[in-house]
Amino acid sequence: MNAPAKTEDFAATVPAGVFAETVTSVTHYTDRLFRFRMTRPAGFRFRSGEFAMIGLMVEGKPVYRAYSIASPAWDEELEFFSIKVPDGPLTSHLQAIKPGDQVLMRKKPTGTLVLDALTPGKRLYMFSTGTGIAPFASLIREPETFEKFDEVILTHTTRDVAELKYGFDLIEEIRNHEFLAEVVGDKLRHYATATREDYPFRGRITDLIRNGKLFTDLGVSAFDPAIDRGMICGSTEMLKDTKLLLEEAGLTEGSNNKPGEFVIERAFVG
Ligand SMILES: Cc1cc2nc3c(=O)[nH]c(=O)nc-3n(C[C@H](O)[C@H](O)[C@H](O)COP(=O)(O)OP(=O)(O)OC[C@H]3O[C@@H](n4cnc5c(N)ncnc54)[C@H](O)[C@@H]3O)c2cc1C
Repeated sequence: MNAPAKTEDFAATVPAGVFAETVTSVTHYTDRLFRFRMTRPAGFRFRSGEFAMIGLMVEGKPVYRAYSIASPAWDEELEFFSIKVPDGPLTSHLQAIKPGDQVLMRKKPTGTLVLDALTPGKRLYMFSTGTGIAPFASLIREPETFEKFDEVILTHTTRDVAELKYGFDLIEEIRNHEFLAEVVGDKLRHYATATREDYPFRGRITDLIRNGKLFTDLGVSAFDPAIDRGMICGSTEMLKDTKLLLEEAGLTEGSNNKPGEFVIERAFVG
């Protein structure tokens, strides 16, 4: 495995029109998941929930992949929550980064998991599996989310319980944050489920919607297009199934150009 480039000569290899930012912290959660934070380029603007292309120089060539920005738009650093694919062209190297290393980022963020793509509502569901929690890590730390919605329900489903930890850390961070704690108050609810291990809430989110357990557990009524809005981020299959359930309940998909009652984004290709 090549160590990520680090020294002064790195600057000479950075492709034109790309930011090279310095890693400030790295937290490993499991052998499949880690989080890192890096400096934010001066003048880099994005909307909470968007993704950017980040990369590393690997054997003299830049390798980029799409990454949701997990930090909110107001944060002075950028945070990412990443998978470790053992032989992945990017993450086999990215998982070895340390504070002080440089990560590349293309200049233009984009994405559909933004508040502007939703019509006004009262309750916002954020459905995520695996690293699909990343855009919501941004949006649950975005004050505007709580100005627009009375209730925000973040669902996070992983295979193993250990993979839920990033989500719990986020909730803890918000509860202890000097200004977010007040802005968020008791509007944010976190519903974490594991599919392969015993856990108080167990199973796929689509099954828990279908059999009504999600609503019973949360003490809320079933989806209602007059009240509920949704954002979905997960595997292609999870997106398809969750989208269908929202459509069956009468919600319609929106986009940046045409806001709707729910929006979707793939957490990865494959
Ligand atoms: C819009 C968008 C946003 C994304 N945001 C993130 C993010 O915030 N964090 C993140 O880790 N990845 C994210 N991804 C996936 C990311 O772009 C890369 O695929 C991932 O970093 C692995 O890169 P790689 O080069 O090591 O392997 P790749 O060649 O890209 O992937 C190899 C295989 O690994 C699996 N895989 C890839 N990514 C994941 C994942 N996140 N979870 C589970 N299995 C995966 C797939 O089966 C894929 O075919 C996003 C993808 C898209 C399209």
